Amino acid sequence: MAFSSYRFRRSYLVALTAVAALTLAAQWLVQTALDRAEGDASVINLAGRQRMLSQKLTKAAWASEFAEESSSRHAAEAELGESLEALSQAHAQLAEEVAGDSELEVQYARVDVLFEQLAAATRARLAGAQQDTSELLVALSTAEAAFLPEMNRLVGVFEGVADGRISRLRRVELGLFLATLLVLTLEAFLIFEPLRRALNQRMADLTEARNVAERATRVQDEFLSAMSHEIRTPLNAVIGMSELLLDSELSPQQQELATTCNQSSQVLLSLVNDILDYAKLESGEVELEILDLEPEALVTEVAQLVAPRLAEKPVELVIDGPREADLQVRADPLRIRQVLINLASNAAKFTRKGQVTLRWYLEPKAGARPSLVFEVQDTGIGIPPERLGAIFERFTQADSSTTREYGGTGLGLALSREWTQRMGGVLEVESVVGRGSLFRLRLPLDSAPVGAARKGAGVARGRRVALVVEHPEQRAAHARLLAQLDAELMEFGTTEALGNLAASELNGLDAVLVAREALEGWRLPAGIAAARILALGRAGDSLEPARSADGRTVAGTLQRPTRRAALEAALGALWNPEGQEVGGAETSTDASRLRGLKVLAVEDNPVNRRLLEAHLKHFGCEAVFASDGLEALERAGDSEFGLVLMDCQMPRMDGYTASAELRGMPQGEDVVILALSANTQPEHARRCEAAGIDDWLSKPYTRDDLRRALLRWVDRVPGRGVA
Ligand code: ADP
Repeated sequence: MAFSSYRFRRSYLVALTAVAALTLAAQWLVQTALDRAEGDASVINLAGRQRMLSQKLTKAAWASEFAEESSSRHAAEAELGESLEALSQAHAQLAEEVAGDSELEVQYARVDVLFEQLAAATRARLAGAQQDTSELLVALSTAEAAFLPEMNRLVGVFEGVADGRISRLRRVELGLFLATLLVLTLEAFLIFEPLRRALNQRMADLTEARNVAERATRVQDEFLSAMSHEIRTPLNAVIGMSELLLDSELSPQQQELATTCNQSSQVLLSLVNDILDYAKLESGEVELEILDLEPEALVTEVAQLVAPRLAEKPVELVIDGPREADLQVRADPLRIRQVLINLASNAAKFTRKGQVTLRWYLEPKAGARPSLVFEVQDTGIGIPPERLGAIFERFTQADSSTTREYGGTGLGLALSREWTQRMGGVLEVESVVGRGSLFRLRLPLDSAPVGAARKGAGVARGRRVALVVEHPEQRAAHARLLAQLDAELMEFGTTEALGNLAASELNGLDAVLVAREALEGWRLPAGIAAARILALGRAGDSLEPARSADGRTVAGTLQRPTRRAALEAALGALWNPEGQEVGGAETSTDASRLRGLKVLAVEDNPVNRRLLEAHLKHFGCEAVFASDGLEALERAGDSEFGLVLMDCQMPRMDGYTASAELRGMPQGEDVVILALSANTQPEHARRCEAAGIDDWLSKPYTRDDLRRALLRWVDRVPGRGVA
């Protein structure tokens, strides 16, 4: 039965009115009964009083008859008169009481005649007081004798009538009570029962609707993860192949076409990521993953990722942080990284010249844990004050011309703010048009930060290092890094300033770090050996080794902003070459770490396999290939390798199963397994962990992403660790 609140209300109102009417009627009845009973009682009382008065009257008549003294006779006669008076009054009252009640009136009519006779006899007796009165007395007594039994009978009749009336009222009252009961029963069956059934039905409908919605969400999730996989797999090939193309011999025009193709595929990737994220947030299916996080490492990683976007522009990318940078906190690295990449990409996009700074610090709070703060500051176009609120809304840009000039969807900041809020933090912005913007991400910490284990601390202890960088903030950033390595530092803005040092002092320098552009305009003074110099280049610099103005090749080049680990490795190689030629720091040192690495690469998609082959060849790795999990296990049986790159979704046997199986084999126990997956759902991470996979790289990945992942793990490969 369909639930209709109007119908229910109407029926309920009718039932309520009926019950109210019946209750009122019962009330009225009881009141009437009480009134009647009162009336009946007074009639009976009056009748009784008349009996008593008639007896008193006779008694007084007799007393006056036989009084010996005249005073007694007078008193008796006076009483006779008074009694007659009272009797007449009572009679009149009784007549009044019964008037209108036909039943009582009929009964009373008979008494009325007898009363008149008694009254007449009494009056005659009073009038004839001086004569012989015995005859009159007899007449009076006779009238009283007739009146009294009639009065007795009448009282009995009155009582009977009253009782009859009461029992009639009781019956009516019982009837009313039964009627009320009937109405209530009808109400229960005709109103409440259908209502209960309608409510039950509504509850069942709602439960069903919720189940349908949950099923729909599940289907949407499955669809999303399938779509994500399907889009990422070919995108991986587009990004990777265009990178390979860019590395080959191309005419300037081909170079431009390939660059556009590569950049567009990167834009497409970030769009796909944003839309998937948006869908995930919409469906409410997001879980934070709280892990150990080193803010310094995270900021450096983000800087390295956005550095290529600034390669073509005169914009210095600077990392700033506390002097004691080796701190570890508990937070969600994936989400923070995502927000920072968004902010840093925007800064890179909207800044034509000047500086982009990525900064982090701990903000102390009185009586509470400090907050972890990240800032991304730029000297870009800025945002008009009236648009500062709107840019955090979905699909909104500060200015409609933005899309035309810079592209973008207007989703990045909305997602960043939502992620920040889910982490319990705040994302703020300050901006001045034409001067630049500052985005600040402030996150509360649930536990106190701890010191992170630091490898290779003090590699430059006791070493004298000169730093030559014109850009003051960039110089400060590198000075901070060198201080962390305990170097004895001298800072210069220009090579001329350094050249002013005495030859003996120049001679005593263990290393010189110099901005690449400064190096290229510098004729090295006699006291400085090129083998002690490391150039600080920018992303997008020529791949040729850095040279000074007089054509001398320096020991190596680091890409700024510089990773501390890379700086440590480069300085280490500079001072302890151990027979190795120091031919270039970041690129060549890292390249040499990957050279000869034995890799088992498992990938079912032939295009992506070819891409992987090209990348691994480029890194100098020795690779064996398999196209699914089963084949991977066969290869594991007949070849040696230290690291496995494992695709996850494959026919016959997927990567998770193959990894778990491999871990069970003697040759797979200690190898490093890195998953390659187009799946970005949280449950992917759980499955990887369960299968004994060490780390994962999500598709699509660039050559640099792959290189970074391999470099992160190469030291863990059996037989390749650094001592
Ligand atoms: P998108 O960059 O894809 O357009 P976002 O949500 O990341 O979307 O940014 C929304 C808008 O906020 C941008 O279109 C731009 O107008 C403005 N904006 C964001 N970051 C900056 C910045 N660093 N400098 C100037 N404008 C910015």
